[in-house]
Order: sequence, then C-alpha cells, then structure tokens
Amino acid sequence: MENQAKTALVTGGTRGIGRAIVVQLARTGYNVVFTYNSSDDLAKALCDEFNSSSEKVIGIKADAADFPSAENVISKTLEKFGRIDILVNNAGITKDTLILRMSPDDFDAVINANLKSTFNYTKLAVKAMLNLKWGRIINISSVVGITGNPGQSNYVASKAGVIGFSKSVAKEVATRNITVNVIAPGFIESDMTAKLNEKQKEAITNLIPQKKIGKPEDIAGLVKFLITEDASYITGQVICVDGGMTM
Ligand code: NAP
Repeated sequence: MENQAKTALVTGGTRGIGRAIVVQLARTGYNVVFTYNSSDDLAKALCDEFNSSSEKVIGIKADAADFPSAENVISKTLEKFGRIDILVNNAGITKDTLILRMSPDDFDAVINANLKSTFNYTKLAVKAMLNLKWGRIINISSVVGITGNPGQSNYVASKAGVIGFSKSVAKEVATRNITVNVIAPGFIESDMTAKLNEKQKEAITNLIPQKKIGKPEDIAGLVKFLITEDASYITGQVICVDGGMTM
C-alpha cells in the first residue's frame, strides 16, 4: 500500500463527464481509480497526466455491468490504496430508438450498463466505506430520468432507476456517515451528445433557459462540493445541473 490519501473510484473515466471528474479529484489530491470499457489509449494518456512521480491515478478496463469485474476493481483499489472514500457511478451508454423499434437486447444493454453497474459498485463500495466509517457516493443520472424523453425509454428507465436506488441506499446508510446523492445533468458536451445533429442540438439549446450547453467540468464542480464536509448534511438528493432546463 503506497499512501493513505483519500481514494476515489470513478466508473467510466476515460471520456466526457467521467474524465472531468477524474481530473478534478486527482488535482484536489485524491488517489483515483477509474474504469472504462474499451478506450485503452485514452486511459493511458489520462494516467500519464498525473503519474510522473508516483502512481496516483489508475485506469482499469472493466465492464461496469459485470459484477465479478466490479469485485476485481474493488479488490485492486483496496490492494493499491487501502481504502475507498468516494464512489462516482458515472459509466453510461445510450441506445436510443422508439419503443416499437427497441429490441430486448438494446433495453437490457442500457439497463445493465447504467443501472446494474450502479448496484454493482455501490454494493461493494459500501462495505469498504462502513469499515472507514465515512463515505460519499455520487450517482450520475440525467434530467430525463425525471422528465422522460421520447426515443429513450431504456435510458430513462435506467436513470429513473438510479434515482430510486440511490434514495433507498441513502436511507440504509444515513446513520453511518455515508451520503448518497444523485447528479442529474442536463445537456452536456461529450461524445454521448456529439451523436446528435446540429438541428437536434439547436432544438435542445432553445429549451435551456441559459441558452447554452453545459461542460463536463460543470458536473465535476458539483462532485467536488458533494465530497466535502460542507456537504455532510446533504443526502438522498437529486441535484440538476442543467442551465435551468428542468425548473
Ligand atoms: P461518454 O462521453 O460517452 O463517456 C462514457 C464513459 O463511460 C466512457 O469513459 C466509457 O468508456 C465509459 N463506459 C461506457 N460503458 C461502460 C461500461 N459498460 N463499463 C465501463 N465503462 C463504460 O458519456 P458522458 O456524456 O460523459 O456521460 C457520462 C454519464 O453522464 C453517463 O452516465 C450519462 O448517462 C450521464 N449523462 C450525460 C449527459 C450528457 O449530456 N452528456 C446528460 C445526462 C446524463 P470507453 O471510453 O472505454 O467507452
């Protein structure tokens, strides 16, 4: 075990919002373990940014939907850093289409990557946090998990599931110094939203009172606050970061 600095685990850390969260946490001085699905080169580049003197940021290729892989990630994190203080369940995918065209496989894939993954890592990290008598869990949902969205019934079901799941776990661990909160991003610049065409982006931007698309750093900034002692009395909450879209 190399050091006993606070340690954060972030799923889906190679791109977009997850990457911004990894960067924010590493700059704040945390050891960070992040997972990813396939982007080996991006994972290596991110680790190289922070590991010039010692290995403080580690990337592990692991499908977040797979429970045995999650067990392996948790073991490696504990082996390397001895503790897990912070968990950010961020990994997520979309497979958008209208319900009449949606295949059972597309439904399952999205539920597994977005919701089952959140169960996997929360279940395992809570155990480590109970030992520490302290913990912060932040689950990334979406504003559409609150409002619904046509063409995204699988994604919305997974993100609404994340909200209900988080509130239940927040109640289970509330007396143990462990908080569980949900961030619901609105429309944030990333590879996920880059799939939309210009017309779709313009239509969405028009629905945002601030008339601008958010940046991954807008989400990372809230993570930075939620892990502090100043946020210790906030639990079971869903906080929208959306330029006013859902007010
Ligand atoms: P993104 O740019 O597509 O990045 C997704 C990240 O998750 C990548 O690091 C990817 O790894 C990883 N990932 C995907 N499936 C995985 C799996 N099964 N196991 C492990 N890692 C996996 O996405 P994003 O836009 O930053 O979104 C991040 C989170 O915010 C998601 O939960 C998303 O639903 C949520 N969100 C995003 C927006 C938005 O506007 N962007 C809005 C609301 C909510 P690889 O690089 O290896 O593929």
